[in-house]
Amino acid sequence: MLYAKAMLRLVGLGKTYPGFALSVSLEVPPGQTLALLGPSGSGKSTLLRLVAGLETPDSGQVWLNETELTPLPPEARRVGFVFQDYALFPHLSVSENIAFGLREARWDNASIRERVAELLGLTHLSPHAHKRPDQLSGGERQRVALARALAHRPQVLLLDEPLGALDLKLRQELLLELRAILRQTAVPSIVVTHDQSEAFVIAHQVTLLREGALVQQGAPEQLFNRPKSPWVATFLGHRNVLTAEQSRQIGLPARPHLLPQEALTLGEGEEARVQERIFKGFTVALELAWRGQRLYLEGPEPGLHPGDTTRLRVDWSKVVALEEGNEGEPWQPADTVTPSARP
Ligand code: ADP
Ligand code: MG
Repeated sequence: MLYAKAMLRLVGLGKTYPGFALSVSLEVPPGQTLALLGPSGSGKSTLLRLVAGLETPDSGQVWLNETELTPLPPEARRVGFVFQDYALFPHLSVSENIAFGLREARWDNASIRERVAELLGLTHLSPHAHKRPDQLSGGERQRVALARALAHRPQVLLLDEPLGALDLKLRQELLLELRAILRQTAVPSIVVTHDQSEAFVIAHQVTLLREGALVQQGAPEQLFNRPKSPWVATFLGHRNVLTAEQSRQIGLPARPHLLPQEALTLGEGEEARVQERIFKGFTVALELAWRGQRLYLEGPEPGLHPGDTTRLRVDWSKVVALEEGNEGEPWQPADTVTPSARP
């Protein structure tokens, strides 16, 4: 069945605005979720709008299996779209919001009733079926938007910062729910986010976009453990991203490097001075002066405080060499320890 086996392909899809150019090729295999991750203004929403047919590309094509979608109007593409602000109809009930597109598409009443009941179940909204959007919480509204996008059995699902309007705790809860629903629906989906941990949780593949260009792509673990440049490493939340000069100072070749957490062992090796201690609840972070650099280390309660001396071992086999070329952009180097703060 095409519905469950659709492969989405973007081939050289391009769009230019004054001062901005997007150009992307990528594939989303059947049933997979791709997270489109990037800073604000990197072109994430533009890419979704091109796939949905809400914008016309300057170049390239959108394919669903052997069908080219590019010339088709949005309503003929069988694409489900969830907007950041949900855009629900305020005067319609939850059920009527979900049914809206099906009535437009002239589904018969019995089929609409059956499909709406199915979606209310899938999104755990059955008890709220007769409420209006203003009687719902943010999380429930988000689920209505998702149910509405799924109603007409789209072959592709596009979600633009679907959790962006919610507070942190609710985001974390709904993220797992959204993940489960996307896995069940088995259509290729693209979820836009600017939050790397959200991307890792939800996606099979993460695509990192910067200024309209695809910078790096991979499975969450692969991308996180093997960032190719200082910019990617920093954007993904790594600390200990050293410049060429800082790398040279601790005895590494003169090019940028990442010292990931698993390369650092506390309590063994060379002397290190504790400069900062940050209690974070489940973990405690330390900033350590080591070989003239400031390194960040997070883990279980170390029983150490500023001014204490400890030891630190670097497992050099776990250090990641990064590309010099930093996509032509300045980035914030890790702090260098000032001479007076050296142990
Ligand atoms: P993101 O969703 O990653 O924050 P967008 O895709 O919304 O980024 O925007 C990417 C760039 O394209 C921005 O510089 C934005 O100003 C520009 N842009 C988006 N839509 C339009 C438009 N309709 N007209 C002109 N410029 C636009
Ligand atoms: Mg956007």
